[in-house]
Amino acid sequence: MTPITVAYGDGIGPEIMDATLRIITAAGARIKPEVIEIGEKVYLKGNPAGIEDSAWDSLRRTRVFLKAPITTPQGGGFKSLNVTVRKVLGLFANVRPCASYAPFIDTKHPNMDVVIIRENEEDLYAGIEHQQTPEVVQCLKLISRPGTEKIIRYAFEYARQYGRKKVTCFTKDNIMKQTDGLFHKVFEEIGEEYPEIEKEHWIVDIGAAKLADTPEMFDVVVLPNLYGDILSDVAAQIAGSVGLAGSANIGDGFAMFEAIHGSAPRRAGQNMANPSGLLMGAIQMLVHIGQGDVAEKVHNAWLKTIEDGIHTYDIYREGVSKQKVGTKEFADAVIDRLGEKPQQLKPVSYSNAKKTIEIKLKPAEPVTMETVGVDIFLYHEDRDPNKLGKALEQITVGELRLNMITNRGTRVYPHGHPETFCTDHWRCRFKANGQAISYRDIIQLQQKVTEAGFQIIKTENLCRINGKDVFSAGQGAG
Ligand code: NAD
Repeated sequence: MTPITVAYGDGIGPEIMDATLRIITAAGARIKPEVIEIGEKVYLKGNPAGIEDSAWDSLRRTRVFLKAPITTPQGGGFKSLNVTVRKVLGLFANVRPCASYAPFIDTKHPNMDVVIIRENEEDLYAGIEHQQTPEVVQCLKLISRPGTEKIIRYAFEYARQYGRKKVTCFTKDNIMKQTDGLFHKVFEEIGEEYPEIEKEHWIVDIGAAKLADTPEMFDVVVLPNLYGDILSDVAAQIAGSVGLAGSANIGDGFAMFEAIHGSAPRRAGQNMANPSGLLMGAIQMLVHIGQGDVAEKVHNAWLKTIEDGIHTYDIYREGVSKQKVGTKEFADAVIDRLGEKPQQLKPVSYSNAKKTIEIKLKPAEPVTMETVGVDIFLYHEDRDPNKLGKALEQITVGELRLNMITNRGTRVYPHGHPETFCTDHWRCRFKANGQAISYRDIIQLQQKVTEAGFQIIKTENLCRINGKDVFSAGQGAG
């Protein structure tokens, strides 16, 4: 018996969790659920995280979490429980299979069978946002090499384990050359270790358009956090319904499984909700805990139920569906079909997926890192870049002197265009003719800039790693 932590959640949560546990237990799941309370009631008791310490104890014990959707109360101050659990347990991969079930469930894409693997911890989701000047706010986009290696390797290992043929990576590295550039580079590097798997990379805009138009061209898709967040919903929706998709959040030694939809409070307590999304999450959980045999039995019985036209209200269609049923009756119909396989839809097999995917990172290689300049960001109300440039050119520390000024990334000094719109936020780049500098030089420079009456809002070092400059140029900079 594998202990698992279970949360019944809010709204339709308790009904769909009950249906899910009934089905997997009837199929012979060897699990021992420990129930914890999370969500609305915990928030309203005054706990802003929506989860109590005793719940963490259970999660630390079982390391496997089957979670029904919860309601986040309206009003400020409540933290997203999903984000908290993901971050605390280091759940770096979000895995969302999106398949269509034509002709039984309406879709424009009858041959779609895509798995979206989204990086879950980094990118613009670190929550590091600042207002820097009265006119400008920023959000830091952080991409790390180990974080990227983990998710890319997970995508290839997943493809190998589930017999998938191709892994596609989406980034916007033509614009974000450092952050998305790293994600793409690591994809190419790690991809070489999986010669049997086809690899492709698309710029995310055209890739997203293709995914929405011809999803059957894709198999496994791996993406940084923000693109993954958006495109995993697009993929689930075009497959037929967000109500049918489950997702796994996987970390090193911890995992959380859930439906992708919310708690649908208006449908709560009416025996109407479709339990399929959570059931799909539970199937992923069974594979994760080494019970692929049970997962296969449940999934095939579910496919047979869908094929037999036994549908909840959300997927019911006159002429295609045979019987409109409630949550409980749907679960009963799946239980009645345990051991059966679908006739028209493709049966699933989890015989190769017998183990948890474990990711081992390669040890970091030694690097040389030097500082070759600094970007000093100023809050400066006067909008004349030439006046600012001339004043800053007077300020030097050894060889360190003004190289250029940009406003919102566009070079405005020297040789700016008078048409460029300028805000109160200026990036002033100082370099030392390619020579390495010390942080002491940067402090001296900041002191001189401050003494000249300028207001510094932050600085960023310009780095050279293994002899290569690794910072962006200004737009329009030659
Ligand atoms: P929702 O997913 O709950 O509902 C959207 C629509 O889909 C509704 O019309 C609903 O009736 C329908 N629907 C959803 N699941 C269904 C199912 N299983 N069967 C049949 N119909 C279903 O999204 P929402 O209304 O935006 O959010 C409601 C609450 O859920 C909010 O408090 C939100 O914060 C929360 N939420 C929780 C999670 C989570 O816990 N993972 C995810 C998303 C939203």
